Amino acid sequence: MLDAIVVGAGMAGLLAAIRLRERRRDFIVLERSRELGGTWSSNTYPGCACDVPSLLYSYSFEPNPDWTRVYPLQSEILAYFRRVARKYELGPHLRFATEVTQASYDERDACWRVETRTGECYIARALIFGAGQLSRPLVPPLRGVERFAGKAFHSARWDHTFDPAGKRVAVIGNGPSAAQFVPEIAPRVARLVVLQRTPNWTIERPDRSYRASERWLFRRAPIIMKLGRALIYARLELIFRGFRQGSLMARLLRRKLRSAMEEQLPDPRLREKLIPDYPVGCKRIVVTSDFLSTFQRPNVTLETDPISHVTREAIVTMIGREHPVDAIIYGTGFEATQFLAPIRITGRGGVALEDAWRDGAEAYRGTTVAGFPNMFILYGPNTNLGHNSIIFMVERQVEYMMRLLDALFGRGLQALEVRSEVMRKYNEDIQAHLERSVWRAGCRSWYQTASGKVTTNWPHSCSAWARLMRRTNLEDFRLSG
Ligand code: NAP
Repeated sequence: MLDAIVVGAGMAGLLAAIRLRERRRDFIVLERSRELGGTWSSNTYPGCACDVPSLLYSYSFEPNPDWTRVYPLQSEILAYFRRVARKYELGPHLRFATEVTQASYDERDACWRVETRTGECYIARALIFGAGQLSRPLVPPLRGVERFAGKAFHSARWDHTFDPAGKRVAVIGNGPSAAQFVPEIAPRVARLVVLQRTPNWTIERPDRSYRASERWLFRRAPIIMKLGRALIYARLELIFRGFRQGSLMARLLRRKLRSAMEEQLPDPRLREKLIPDYPVGCKRIVVTSDFLSTFQRPNVTLETDPISHVTREAIVTMIGREHPVDAIIYGTGFEATQFLAPIRITGRGGVALEDAWRDGAEAYRGTTVAGFPNMFILYGPNTNLGHNSIIFMVERQVEYMMRLLDALFGRGLQALEVRSEVMRKYNEDIQAHLERSVWRAGCRSWYQTASGKVTTNWPHSCSAWARLMRRTNLEDFRLSG
């Protein structure tokens, strides 16, 4: 029997693997794709980059002096994770093209049985999910789309055989992904129509290449990188203060973003369509300096009338406006609130996780779930941010998880399971705090379930998360064996 199975070889799964390897645990990492890197290997659309500055977007213990830009490109983030995996010799533990379909807890032997699409079955004491929140593309079921004769694909499954040059293209959605690839393809296509359902707040993205002298300094004086990282972290933490409804920072942020957006949008008709009226941060702020100006191009149209249906060669809106197109690109985001789906997970007493989570996903510190002993979720429920680096969140979570695993293995325990009353109280507090956050201020976003419950986001600052995760209270758990 293995000590642990890690599901997913993205940023979180790799970090768990590094820590397990340091402790000489017997473990494997099951990854459904043929590549590590998670979101950074599946998203390859033009312009794909991270909207968190590069100095902060790395593991704290593995600073990267090779970043070429202030905002790192997808290709260099992927290269970074490959390099880290090599350095920590994770290769022998990684199993690619191995999609987990089912995981069930065996109470008698206190272990997890994990089954894969290819028919293998693995058994381990602990099960660790590093499956991400944004891994399953959401493609809305548009009426008539099956008749569409052109190309259609999602931004996270970019079709690189498609050459946009001279084509008429429709982009559905205007979130962070679309805001990155729209400015890239707009100069190349014949016509581009962006179908927007809701406008987004945007904030400037002061990107530039690092000079050779800066990169030399990063390499020679790592303290400079550390300092830069701390400054970026502190600046982003300030933005979080604006995510409290009615706060002074919320008002300042709104004024600042509004005036910056107006400056980029001289046309009052575009302003009216592109500047939101809901509070800043309610939906993820789009970090961009070139998305808004793209709508001033003569070959780009912003369509705000809702989509009615698709014909063989066009998208038709509710008022009957027809947009003939050769391709449809879905920038429509991900099924974020269906954590861990479609894996069928059953815990103690054969209870299915999807039943336990019928009213929305919940966990204790986003990591453990009552009824599911020895199971850990990285970047789990209510651990997402709208303002800072997820790597920071996951690092603190992995430190916490490893202390729990040390207790499990070190004390010779059979099982460790969070007490249901502890988890319930924790989530009542989380939801009470979320009530006052901008994410409950009336807009619809991927932060919420269909019933409006915010199951993705952490309601406090990153520093508060670090303080919480520093403490491990084993009284919160039922320990057996
Ligand atoms: P998203 O933020 O969920 O945006 C999806 C877009 O599609 C929205 O504009 C949405 O409109 C629209 N949409 C969805 N269903 C639709 C329908 N049936 N009809 C019309 N429009 C529809 O997705 P995303 O842009 O892929 O970004 C997802 C998340 O990924 C981001 O919030 C961010 O956390 C992450 N991301 C990060 C980076 C980075 O640089 N770190 C880059 C890209 C993405 P509504 O707003 O009306 O729902």
